[in-house]
Amino acid sequence: MTSHVEQQIAARIAAVRARKQQQHEQRAEFDRLRAAGLAVRKRQKLSRVFCGTCARVQRKGSYLRCPLGCGEALCRSSAGCGNTHLRQCSSRPEVGE
Ligand SMILES: [Zn+2]
Ligand SMILES: [Zn+2]
Repeated sequence: MTSHVEQQIAARIAAVRARKQQQHEQRAEFDRLRAAGLAVRKRQKLSRVFCGTCARVQRKGSYLRCPLGCGEALCRSSAGCGNTHLRQCSSRPEVGE
């Protein structure tokens, strides 16, 4: 025969176990969401465009691609970025000495 005290203890153990299981599930869910968020952020980071001269992050339409065709992005608003890049551009045609 099970005593009243033993029943209470059993109920308490079951409650603790249920809470632990719930915490475990919440943590697993949280980890899953975090991993998904990281993957999205990583993709965004990879697709981000930086100015080849000043390295500022560019938004759509805020930059121009190098006119010499090296593929660098250059601030549209800052002529200095374009000019500096053109002097250092790897696609710059060699000027005969
Ligand atoms: Zn720039
Ligand atoms: Zn270039």
